[in-house]
Amino acid sequence: MAGRFVPFSRNQIESIITTHPTPFHIYDEKAIRDNAGKLKQYFTWAPGFREYFAVKATPNPYILKMLKEEGFGADCSSLPELVLSERVGITGEHIMFSSNDTPYQEYQKAMELGAIINLDDITHIPYLEQHVGLPELLCFRYNPGPLREGNAIIGKPEEAKYGFTGAQLLEGYRMVKKKGVKRFGLHTMIASNELDPYYFVDTAKMLFDLVIEVKKTLDIRIEFVNIGGGIGIPYKPEQKAVDLEIISQGIREAYEAIIRPEGLHPLNLYMEMGRMITGPYGYLVTRVRHIKDTYKRYVGLDASMANLMRPAIYGAYHHITVMGKEDRQAEQTYDVTGSLCENNDKFAIDRALPPIEIGDILVIHDAGAHGHAMGFNYNGKLRSAELLLKPDGSVEQIRRAETVEDYFQTLDFSRL
Ligand SMILES: *Cc1c(COP(=O)(O)O)cnc(C)c1O
Repeated sequence: MAGRFVPFSRNQIESIITTHPTPFHIYDEKAIRDNAGKLKQYFTWAPGFREYFAVKATPNPYILKMLKEEGFGADCSSLPELVLSERVGITGEHIMFSSNDTPYQEYQKAMELGAIINLDDITHIPYLEQHVGLPELLCFRYNPGPLREGNAIIGKPEEAKYGFTGAQLLEGYRMVKKKGVKRFGLHTMIASNELDPYYFVDTAKMLFDLVIEVKKTLDIRIEFVNIGGGIGIPYKPEQKAVDLEIISQGIREAYEAIIRPEGLHPLNLYMEMGRMITGPYGYLVTRVRHIKDTYKRYVGLDASMANLMRPAIYGAYHHITVMGKEDRQAEQTYDVTGSLCENNDKFAIDRALPPIEIGDILVIHDAGAHGHAMGFNYNGKLRSAELLLKPDGSVEQIRRAETVEDYFQTLDFSRL
């Protein structure tokens, strides 16, 4: 089987490591920009199309700035994410504030920035009104409950904590129209890491039908639908990337069939993908520190689940390339582990790989979204650096690694 693409050779990565010690995440700028451009290209037909990059996937200012240059906005869900977006110059309606269980201070900041506020619950209407006031434009997050099937990561919609029911949605629009809100949006997010393109077509249809219902029952014209994030990526070698052409054409046909005949053109189309934008173009680079033979054979890395916890918490597959051994037979079976005192700190279990030696460099694929971002300090583990591989082949550090001093930053020893 052909190996997965890696945007550098063993020699190149060895040379990068001389100035940037492992472990680190490295993002391929050219691939991310190409991918962003491709997504936009598919939706040139769609009125007001905008992708709001889900900041939580890769909350790094250099990544956000790059995506801003590609015309993307930011999907934020917390105060720090709002401030991060502001500091890279993403403001106003280029921010979608899709939060839940939200403190009013965060609504306040979002309002200050002129962000689109997307409410998660009908009780947040009086809450927002009381603490901050209502904006001119308001969006609601819809949860279709048993009307739609969910998927493995996000679960069934009726079990999910997010969003308004259908009845609440109508009540909510009616309520805020009376209170003087002038502009309206509709949002949903019901799948995560979904590889079936038709799922997103169905989601758009569901929202288009609702736009018609809201128009007919309340005489409210919704100006955009946001189909959320959740387009999956092929983590496993046998999986294929989602065909964006199917999503684009399917949504376009639904738009022509549902929206245009009702005279509701133009209705803007937004999305807030995270994973599919940066996921495949980020790599966790780590070196083999120990090899251990007991009841199983273990490879001990200098990275741990503090750097990438998807395998540990979801049992997620992440492909691994042993640098310089791409053409060797995968004739050994290993558990690939980190140093956390948790037995689930394994990047792979019973993985067939070429024979590994101490000092080998392993590249863990598809770490560009929900990778570094999910890092933590449990067990005194420190988060790694983030690097950007520039289109000219040079490397820039875009976040330094944490130090032991960082770990002690929030502790106060003065009253011991
Ligand atoms: C996490 C999240 C996203 C992005 O999800 P991906 O799976 O990374 O595309 C978008 N919108 C909301 C509200 C989210 O919580």
